[in-house]
Amino acid sequence: MKGKVRVRFAPSPTGPLHVGGARTALFNYVFAVAHGGAFVLRFEDTDKDRSEQVFEDSIHEGLKWMGINWDEEYYQSKRGDIYKRCLDALRAKNLVYDHDGGAYFRLPAKARSVVVDDLIHGPVEFSSKDFDDVVLIKKDGTPTFHFANVVDDIEMRITHVIRGEDHLSNTPKHILLYEALGATVPQFAHIPLILNPDRSKVSKRTGDVALDDYRQAGYVPEAMINFLAQLGWSPPDRNDFFTFEELTKMFSLKRVQKAGAVFDVKLLNHINHRYLMQKSLDEYIRLAKPFVAHLKTTSAGLRSALKLIQDRAQTLSEIPGLIEYFFSDPQYDKDLLVFKKSSPQKTQAGLDVALKVLEALDEKDWQEDKLQQVLDNAIAAESLLPGDLFWPVRIALSGKEGSPNPVELLAALGKSVSVKRIETAIKKF
Ligand code: GLU
Repeated sequence: MKGKVRVRFAPSPTGPLHVGGARTALFNYVFAVAHGGAFVLRFEDTDKDRSEQVFEDSIHEGLKWMGINWDEEYYQSKRGDIYKRCLDALRAKNLVYDHDGGAYFRLPAKARSVVVDDLIHGPVEFSSKDFDDVVLIKKDGTPTFHFANVVDDIEMRITHVIRGEDHLSNTPKHILLYEALGATVPQFAHIPLILNPDRSKVSKRTGDVALDDYRQAGYVPEAMINFLAQLGWSPPDRNDFFTFEELTKMFSLKRVQKAGAVFDVKLLNHINHRYLMQKSLDEYIRLAKPFVAHLKTTSAGLRSALKLIQDRAQTLSEIPGLIEYFFSDPQYDKDLLVFKKSSPQKTQAGLDVALKVLEALDEKDWQEDKLQQVLDNAIAAESLLPGDLFWPVRIALSGKEGSPNPVELLAALGKSVSVKRIETAIKKF
């Protein structure tokens, strides 16, 4: 590739950063890093009524959260002089006409073919006779998206325009403008639309696709990056779990598909789960804190609870539900105490004997190996099956079918809480 690669992410700050925008930013950023190029952030904020500071903030924060750093930043609203100069240049070439208060680009008098040589779609041919007139300057004096977009890509020396496929149909008009302005046409790569699992189009106005919703739901940025990278691109080795650095080494536009990319939240959950499991306990606690602030506990209590469930939560927001019972007595239905292969009688017998041996166990012996041993002995002595004792003990302690194993729970909850909860369970019969 000749010359330095320069790419840009060009959001209109008319809504929060959404998943599609985050994916476009990521593809551009990874491409820039991979080629030692520059990544430009350009706010396309010429629509004064719809552009808002809060959305600019959302875009800045979302990019920072993902670890995407921009080398340069521009606001189209501050570049009026440049658009004016370019409009004058086009006027001088007799390529502008005025109509109804706006300025229009004069399309070629004779229909001609315009080919977009797209890096993902290959050559796509359009005919200029199918284009509507291109407005350059609106009645209110502001430049249109088409005009400011092309002028800025020229002025900012953008080499590769990597953007959503929804812009492919605009590109032939943009190419005519580049030519009219005497500029080299950049390379285009139109990345596939993002689809819902039913293959309907994901709309950027759908609230739940804002990137920040995912942060608040407890997804970590590494997982989001892994996931977004695979919305249209696939890693050569089919390994869907990689670091950002590995991504920059593997990424190529050649492996971006044409077909729509299905947003599969199950894959996102799976990736997030793996990242959460990999964290050190200290880091896990740090990440979990904002999600568990409402639970009344000490930091030691929180630590021992989180240690037990770290391999369970798919998202950080699931954590409170997984650890609540560490800090307050669980609520559950009596029927849940009875394992499906057991009976109420055997369950009662299991709980009775568990209570007896646990009460007799010295505080200093209250450790996983000892607990396991006394409970195993109790089952054998009473001719019970493990499900007659361990299952109801688990429910008594946690109120949940899916919880860490009962011996780990006993150790973490301590003797007095454990004994009290088993007594409560016995009283239910
Ligand atoms: N402001 C446009 C958008 O958000 C940018 C399109 C482009 O990347 O060229 O869709």
